Amino acid sequence: MDKNLIKLYIFFTILLVVLVNVFPSIFPSINSVINYTKTKILSTFNNTNTKEINIYEDRANIIIMFDDGWKSQYTVAYNYMSKKKLRGCVAVITKAIEQKNYMTKSDLYILYNNNWDLLNHTYDHKNLNTISEDEQSYEIETANIWLEKNGFINPNKILIYPEGGYNLQTLKIMREKNYVSGRGVEEGFNSKKPTNLYEIKVKNVLYNTNPSEIVDWINYTIDNNLTLILLFHRIEDDVDGSLYMYKRENFYEVIDYIDGKKNNLNVINYSEWIQTIINKD
Ligand SMILES: [Zn+2]
Repeated sequence: MDKNLIKLYIFFTILLVVLVNVFPSIFPSINSVINYTKTKILSTFNNTNTKEINIYEDRANIIIMFDDGWKSQYTVAYNYMSKKKLRGCVAVITKAIEQKNYMTKSDLYILYNNNWDLLNHTYDHKNLNTISEDEQSYEIETANIWLEKNGFINPNKILIYPEGGYNLQTLKIMREKNYVSGRGVEEGFNSKKPTNLYEIKVKNVLYNTNPSEIVDWINYTIDNNLTLILLFHRIEDDVDGSLYMYKRENFYEVIDYIDGKKNNLNVINYSEWIQTIINKD
């Protein structure tokens, strides 16, 4: 190869590396891929705004999740959690983004650039167990295309079943489209490495769930070296009669408790957790 061509190639490679590191915000997906590669090799997560996060084999896992993409997940949850350098996961209904009470695309970019997980919760939140295989395929794929088109790339395809509904057709579609895991709303704790990654369980936080009850779940998870997925919806003081509004003060109390237990827990994302399972030989 021509020497000048090699020099030119080296120059542009260095330039790209410098740009990505100096201006990470304009290269969100590239930057994230670099972080992700590190995690694969080292099981070490390099969070954009924080120091490295290691996943320790002997610590229990906790995953803080938010379903549907409500605005308060950004204005309240993200804002509070980022002060503690804690990250969470949002299951996005792509049709709802930019709608009233839901997050905007810019909100999602901020979450994504701070290494939150943005996961496929389908296009229109239809219970997959009640629609045809073609409709299911459309719901899943439309959301996936939207996420990828907007640069919200996740190396592991994960599906969050609306209302927890799924059936054999759903699983068939997921296997065909390389989804490695699925999660509904079934109550329970998960082992560190579950055998069936398509029926991941959660602990649902409803409007009347006492923070002390959640503290018990966390301690049980630590004592038994498990994986706990804490599932929230809206973090708001208003009561709308749905079960899904959780008071700010209660939420802060739970987050403070998790923060205090940082040395006993791996506070990680869903996709990071899945990576520790499927990456092991
Ligand atoms: Zn939902």
